[in-house]
Amino acid sequence: MSEEYHYDLVVVGGGPAGSSAAYEAARNGIRVAMLEKENSIAETVRTSGVTWIQNIKEFGIPDDCYNPIKNFSFCSPNNEVTISDSVPRAAVLDVRKTYRWLAQEAKQSGADIFVKINVNNVIKDEMGDIIGVSGVGPNGKITFHSKAVIDASGFPSVVVKAMGFATQWKRFGAGAEYEVKVENIDSDTWWLMVGQQYSPAGYAWIFPLGNNIVRIGVGVGKPESNVDPTQKLKELMDSKLGPIKKLGKISPIEFHYGLIPNDGLSRKTVFNNLILVGDSAGQANPLVLEGIRYAIKFGRVAGKVASDAIKAGNTDENSLKAYEENWKKEIESKINSAGKVQDRWIGLSDEEWDKELDIIKELKPEEFIDFIKAEFGLSNMIKLATHHPKLAVRQLFNLVKGKK
Ligand SMILES: Cc1cc2nc3c(=O)[nH]c(=O)nc-3n(C[C@H](O)[C@H](O)[C@H](O)COP(=O)(O)OP(=O)(O)OC[C@H]3O[C@@H](n4cnc5c(N)ncnc54)[C@H](O)[C@@H]3O)c2cc1C
Repeated sequence: MSEEYHYDLVVVGGGPAGSSAAYEAARNGIRVAMLEKENSIAETVRTSGVTWIQNIKEFGIPDDCYNPIKNFSFCSPNNEVTISDSVPRAAVLDVRKTYRWLAQEAKQSGADIFVKINVNNVIKDEMGDIIGVSGVGPNGKITFHSKAVIDASGFPSVVVKAMGFATQWKRFGAGAEYEVKVENIDSDTWWLMVGQQYSPAGYAWIFPLGNNIVRIGVGVGKPESNVDPTQKLKELMDSKLGPIKKLGKISPIEFHYGLIPNDGLSRKTVFNNLILVGDSAGQANPLVLEGIRYAIKFGRVAGKVASDAIKAGNTDENSLKAYEENWKKEIESKINSAGKVQDRWIGLSDEEWDKELDIIKELKPEEFIDFIKAEFGLSNMIKLATHHPKLAVRQLFNLVKGKK
């Protein structure tokens, strides 16, 4: 027998985008169901969890959910640079704790959270518009009817695909990572490692979590490279390349693997009764493929816009447009500019990476942070593009500005 439920809004996916959408929509007084396919929220970790303290504070994420970072080290085959800040501005999240906190906030606001629900289909009205989803739950087939749906299912984008509005991402990043205990680590310094030996199209990383725990990982751009990141990571850890050597004895705790879209902002994100948010919408900063803060921020916007539309009795595409306008205004041009830098980085040879680090060396900590966050509009980027004494630095920032 099939189970049936009726809600105002159904949110598919219990990641940061889904929990944030459910939180804001439930706070706005509508009936919300959030559906997650795993046995519990954040059962599987698929992310490295780097984000920014300013955003953490803005979202109200508790202090015990992250390890602060204030030194940013890079290495290429023959170069090394560390940018040291006076205060920590970056952070490595305890991903499970943070995602569970976000879900708890949604629950406390009144959202019903259903786990072990694998959504695999949509319900449409006679016009072909979505009016619910169905899938497999612990007792077999399960159906959720709703006035609107938010697709926050991440990379698989299950709802929008079932509607026939999108196909699989063509360009994406694949990342493999071990969370490990190590002998030696400076807990407020992260490492990014670039060049062929670390990743043929991407980078490797060491992100500290405190208490001598770090995440060591490798990301590889697809289809640019067919290298398997898991294999590459094993090679790096076995050969103890570069800064990995300094960690001393490494004891693995947990393995993480994930995929992140890198197709730019190619998807339409509102349809009649449907919003896409987070990775499902392709909302990630392509420079380092970080999307958690956008998932939370625009998850909340999606929840608010959808719930306002539901309360007003009209959830057609036009009534949901405010959501797309909001996120586009905030990140579209930044993501497009960051995509240009990423294109440049993907093509660099080892020698060129050695030189690129010399450019990064020129940046003050706040310039570096704005750059890596793709906050190009806010900082001295224009000044750097026009007045920096080094031609190579001017060229990089002119690229950000859109000039060749
Ligand atoms: C290797 C790697 C490293 C990364 N590192 C960083 C980083 O350091 N910092 C950063 O900001 N970002 C990072 N990202 C990106 C970041 O993880 C994503 O941008 C972010 O998780 C997007 O959140 P989301 O809620 O949209 O999707 P997700 O976090 O993927 O959540 C989607 C949820 O939907 C559920 N789901 C999927 N299909 C179904 C279904 N059919 N039915 C029901 N539920 C379903 C999933 O189980 C999951 O819980 C990384 C990504 C990868 C792959």
